[in-house]
Amino acid sequence: MQARTALVTGSGRGIGRGIAEALGREGWNVVVNYARDAAAAAEVVRIIEASGSKAIAMQADISSGDDRRRLVDQTLAAFSQIDLLVNNAGIAPAVRADLLSADEESFDRLINVNLKGPYFLTQLVAREMLAAVEGRRGQAGDGEGRSASRPAIVTISSISAYTASPNRGDYCVAKAGLSMMTKLFAVRLADAGIGVYEIRPGIIQTDMTGGVKEKYDALIAGGLTPLRRWGMPEDVARAVIAIACGLLPFSTGEVINVDGGFHLRQL
Ligand code: NAP
Repeated sequence: MQARTALVTGSGRGIGRGIAEALGREGWNVVVNYARDAAAAAEVVRIIEASGSKAIAMQADISSGDDRRRLVDQTLAAFSQIDLLVNNAGIAPAVRADLLSADEESFDRLINVNLKGPYFLTQLVAREMLAAVEGRRGQAGDGEGRSASRPAIVTISSISAYTASPNRGDYCVAKAGLSMMTKLFAVRLADAGIGVYEIRPGIIQTDMTGGVKEKYDALIAGGLTPLRRWGMPEDVARAVIAIACGLLPFSTGEVINVDGGFHLRQL
């Protein structure tokens, strides 16, 4: 069977890296997108190739329209089609500032990278996926075209999509927007058999949480999450693999919490 292709944004480090390497182990071609850290992305490519799959590192700032177009064009040039888009790239605010004093510059930056980037990248990729689905239906007839391969779009949001942290409102608002984005594209793409999913990680051990490690160590030990441990990139990767392998064929617009039970209310 021909290898399928995944484009994973921000996959040189952290959660994206875990996802890219897991897809490589499952035999996927992987495009390892990064913003600045070329060495980290090159290392991920080496690891994927060592597992027997193909991978290419591609620099692109997902907040730039030109870069998004180039990323999609280069992916298609390398691998012909995109079967899975994982919107993972994201940033935290440079400083955690109170809601009453946080500035517009940080807001614009967070919205551009964390919401506008994935929104319009999804639009670009969805068009390509739709064209590929139409092409297969034309060749094989409706039923076969659907079952040949079910493309999917996965967006990594956060527990911040519904948890109010007044010291990083910009981050929370952007993540909440990703939740609606998932619903919108799920409805729009359902007829084409394209599944759209949101994965909501909790507290995951990466560079992003490095600066608040001690704070979260204490909160986790104190029972913030029913499962009292840090999440790891591999925990998020497993949820992506379940989608990539087609294990959720009658679900779309679904939210998958990968948060050690953080979202549960307790009494
Ligand atoms: P991370 O360790 O800081 O890694 C971020 C990755 O995104 C890097 O590969 C980085 O590229 C890339 N990136 C940043 N800005 C980019 C841009 N404009 N264009 C393209 N790529 C860009 O972060 P992480 O913890 O793995 O987070 C990954 C995603 O999970 C984010 O969306 C984050 O909001 C979300 N999340 C994280 C946690 C957590 O606890 N860590 C929890 C919930 C949700 P470079 O390597 O080139 O800098």
